[in-house]
Amino acid sequence: MTQYNGSAYYLTGAKKLSLESFHIEEKPDHAIIRVYRGGICGSDVHYYFHGGNGNAVVREPMLLGHEVIGRVEKSPAGSLLHVGMKVAINPSLPCGQCEFCLAGVENHCKEMKFMGSAMRLPHVQGGFAQYISVEPERCIAYDDNASDEMMCFAEPLAVALHAVNQAPSLIGKRVLISGAGPIGCLIALVAQAAGASSVTAFDINANSRALALKSGANDVYDPASEALDLFRTAPGYFDIAFDASGAQPAVELAIATLRPRGTFVQVGNSKGLMPLPVMTILNKEITFKGSFRFANEFRVAVKWLESGKINPLPLLSSVMDSINMGEAIELAADKDKAAKIQLTF
Ligand code: ZN
Repeated sequence: MTQYNGSAYYLTGAKKLSLESFHIEEKPDHAIIRVYRGGICGSDVHYYFHGGNGNAVVREPMLLGHEVIGRVEKSPAGSLLHVGMKVAINPSLPCGQCEFCLAGVENHCKEMKFMGSAMRLPHVQGGFAQYISVEPERCIAYDDNASDEMMCFAEPLAVALHAVNQAPSLIGKRVLISGAGPIGCLIALVAQAAGASSVTAFDINANSRALALKSGANDVYDPASEALDLFRTAPGYFDIAFDASGAQPAVELAIATLRPRGTFVQVGNSKGLMPLPVMTILNKEITFKGSFRFANEFRVAVKWLESGKINPLPLLSSVMDSINMGEAIELAADKDKAAKIQLTF
């Protein structure tokens, strides 16, 4: 019998990664995936620096990572997966039976198991390891010739697609993106592909602004720039705004630049309560929407990347060996130096 053993970094607290050996138990209904690449997400960065993410606190050793791709090493009987297939792993495992799953909004599943999340106990282990055992429905096969660097963007691209799905049609619309990190830049790429007439990005960081220009933004601004007065002047300028920063001044600015009846979509996580310009929202009849993770967009993301419909590679700053995980996460947190970092396993 093949042994699926290895060693991986378990997070045990803030800035505490412990290299431990693991052994994968073979389960008859699970596939075993040889993971070979994983992207570091902002939530991994939070877990690493704070030993938690929002309300989720690490209470037992947990593998990070939910943006992983690999090859099928073992496939359960009766599955359409076969050994050697390349797959992107959907980190969401909804129950499929609760009222939200049945309504097709499985991102709100009451029993969601999301990889690399300390929300539940026992924690749902992440994918940053050489081998993982996963339900076959999480494995979305892709063409052998597709670029792994590209395919590793499937999960964050699904987040961007879901955000755009919260807005009305973007065709012919002026789109604003506040916060040009990887998610903001992916939204810019999706917005261009979805027919926006223009895509403008705001970010306080020069490196992020430069990346936005390479990722489909037509123009970029520092939010402190006086040039923005043009957008603030009544009746406003943008039709649809996405906030991928979670920063209150950015949200306030985005709402100030929207036209009456415009739509605002909150994608970036924020800490605690945030003061909002409620009277502006009221007077301009702005639709304010949240966007949480993704639902069926994961498969769409895999298709878009497989076919090269969009190119997220300008966002890939570095590919590092997973043995240097701590260093890689610290680099991923430095917006002056990096956007997306991928690890190899
Ligand atoms: Zn459910």
